Amino acid sequence: MHELVRTLSERILSGKRIGHEEALMLCDIDNKGLIELLSGASRIREKFFGNRITLCTIINAKSGSCSENCAFCAQSSHNYAEIPEYELADEDQIVEFATRAEKNGSSCYGIVTSGTGITEGEELERICSAVSKIRSSASIHPSCSLGIIDYNTAVRLKIAGMTTYHHNLETARSFFPSICTTHDYEDDIKTIRAAKLAGLKVCSGGIFGLGENSGQRVEMAMTLMELEVDSVPLNFLDPVKGTPLEMADYLTPLECLKIIAIYRFILPDKEIKVCGGREKNLRELQSWIFMAGASGMMTGNYLTKPGRPTELDRQMLSDLQLEVAECNR
Ligand code: SF4
Repeated sequence: MHELVRTLSERILSGKRIGHEEALMLCDIDNKGLIELLSGASRIREKFFGNRITLCTIINAKSGSCSENCAFCAQSSHNYAEIPEYELADEDQIVEFATRAEKNGSSCYGIVTSGTGITEGEELERICSAVSKIRSSASIHPSCSLGIIDYNTAVRLKIAGMTTYHHNLETARSFFPSICTTHDYEDDIKTIRAAKLAGLKVCSGGIFGLGENSGQRVEMAMTLMELEVDSVPLNFLDPVKGTPLEMADYLTPLECLKIIAIYRFILPDKEIKVCGGREKNLRELQSWIFMAGASGMMTGNYLTKPGRPTELDRQMLSDLQLEVAECNR
């Protein structure tokens, strides 16, 4: 086995962690050494997660007209993507969608709204009420992704029964100003800290293929490690017409697998979930994400783009003899 991969994977399997410099060295592994990197990542995933894979489903509960200018996002009012725009869905719709997601085998249900963030008011109360109903009528874990929030909002959501707050860093601090200038990276960090302080689990990751370099991919992973987030969604850019990144190239499937594997080495015991852009970037290598160390994936539709039918994802897991993790709250 590649000497570096062997040394680092054994260290991780013995309960230790790798540092920033070592993670950067993993980026230098070329395609010839990739299979060994994936094999190491797969062993690490098996140690911490066994055979169990977590499925997540999201609802785009409020779409478009966002005042932020994230360069990849179809929902930004600074961009010109043609997408359906609507106000916050009603409570029954949010609850009904959760029931459907649970029937499809998802253990986590993300209620996602566009916009800078949410504070006290009717929208927050509607979401809290939906979360309470989901908690009392279903087993699926409701999580929320409502943008930048403060401690009081996080507490309000926790009291309603929410278990996890989702808030992506999107990219490394050093690359963030190339992607978004309408808020500061520190606002995102503060949101994660507020959610943790309120006793919520945190799901936070980012999106790749924005023009960031491999060092910046590692930089974001190290930040997520320092923040001690619980799960890490990895998205791969599926360029949207009408956004500044509409002409960006897709990443290659092998590049995506390498990113997933390096994240597994840096964050060995955290849930790593492959989310948006899976079908377009991984293509025929989608099933390899688990060998690369992913312990979960989003299934169903994404925020503004369709995903593939959940039955295909379940078939893929069954063919790999991986189990869908039960929801145990
Ligand atoms: S990623 Fe979120 S904050 Fe950024 S433009 Fe899109 S909806 Fe707004």
